[in-house]
Amino acid sequence: MIELWGEAVRSIEERVKPANRDQWLRPIECLAIGEGRIRLRAPNRYHKEWFEDNFLPSILENLQERAQTSFAVEFEVPEESPMTAKPQEALGDSVREVAAWRPTPAGLDNRYTFETFVVGARNQFGHAAARMVAGSPGSKYNPLFLYGGVGLGKTHLLHAIGHEIHRQHPDWKITVVTCEQFVSHFIRSMMNQRKQPSSISLMEEFRSHYREKPDVLLVDDIQFLANKDSSQDEFFHTFNALHLAQKQIVLTCDKLPAELPGVEERLQSRFAWGLIAEIGHPDLETRVAIIKRKAEIERMALGDDVALAIATAVRSNVRELEGALLQLSARSSITGRSIDKEFAEEVLRDLVSATPQGFSIESIQREVATYFDIKLHDLKGPKRLQSVARPRMIAMYLARKLTGASFPEIGSRFGGKDHSTVISAVKKIERLVAEDSNLRSVVTTLESHLRQR
Ligand code: ADP
Ligand code: MG
Repeated sequence: MIELWGEAVRSIEERVKPANRDQWLRPIECLAIGEGRIRLRAPNRYHKEWFEDNFLPSILENLQERAQTSFAVEFEVPEESPMTAKPQEALGDSVREVAAWRPTPAGLDNRYTFETFVVGARNQFGHAAARMVAGSPGSKYNPLFLYGGVGLGKTHLLHAIGHEIHRQHPDWKITVVTCEQFVSHFIRSMMNQRKQPSSISLMEEFRSHYREKPDVLLVDDIQFLANKDSSQDEFFHTFNALHLAQKQIVLTCDKLPAELPGVEERLQSRFAWGLIAEIGHPDLETRVAIIKRKAEIERMALGDDVALAIATAVRSNVRELEGALLQLSARSSITGRSIDKEFAEEVLRDLVSATPQGFSIESIQREVATYFDIKLHDLKGPKRLQSVARPRMIAMYLARKLTGASFPEIGSRFGGKDHSTVISAVKKIERLVAEDSNLRSVVTTLESHLRQR
């Protein structure tokens, strides 16, 4: 069975640059495979995450095709960092603590706490608001609405609120979901209900899950509600029930409530009832502090000069900062070199063209046009043929995802299209990526081509 893994890896190797192959693919070891499970070993957590994001989807797809069955993937990562240690181990042996301990509410990420969040000028207000809400949930600021661009720490703060409330009120029911999970849970309940009208009401179960049970409801990426009318209606009632009962609601979003396209006004206005806080791009000083904190968590020795070099080279968002640190850590563990300024600058030089802030909309358009064998001119132009329109939507989606450019900006780079055209293209590809494995693999391939440039 284990050869199957090797074959699947080889099948994608030809599409991967030799340097990346040696660096990222080879160090992943397959320990066992069978009975619908695969066990892999990665040199460290960073490596694991990078591999999961960039290569795993294509390999899995290939593997599942060969084996005609699906696999759940488990990772073994030596030397777990303290943040990912099991809660019992972190507790020590105080009897009182053990008695008070309750398992972390499902869905809360252990890495995302206030302790690991670095406060700087641009996220100070959002952080203070989150602390306040966590300190007295349901009383004053309801809902708390956190908004900002990708990779800036919205999800991190959302989960930090959950952890803190859980620490202070271990018996409370904290429900944390992405908006996407809420929507798909809702649709599933509704459809099953239609199929089996006589069974115990699934809709009732759904409603009690969101409206009655939670003491706190945390919903990530609420912009996903756009243009989903029945889900919006359901969320409207969920919101009202919880708000009336003075249960804390926290929402994250990539825009202000009033700027949410395709979301009903009555919801927009409710989103603005409590407190709205923006999470902005971190300045240089904060970026340095974040890198140092992450290095500490990962137990990497990192000089101030190295932290500064990374923070200067990588400006786009915190997720990319983490990516750069990951590259450094992985390359140093493979080559055995210590992470000094010289080594960091070498790696960063390679990276700057490969990391998203090095992406231009233009380079994405070229890559997509080449991949689909269509003219760049047609990709940017007004043609509506499916053979051009689909690649165009994919290019818009990638432009949004990788450059973080605004919708109007992307529209203007595609021959002056309206921002709403871009929004609906991005939404459509987001949906298809979730539903259609062929399209997902096209998008993953394009992304990994772009990242290797
Ligand atoms: P968003 O939800 O806004 O897209 P995330 O919360 O997922 O962004 O953050 C992306 C990554 O950056 C996460 O790993 C998160 O821990 C980290 N991060 C973001 N902001 C900070 C910060 N101020 N301090 C420490 N880590 C941060
Ligand atoms: Mg997020």
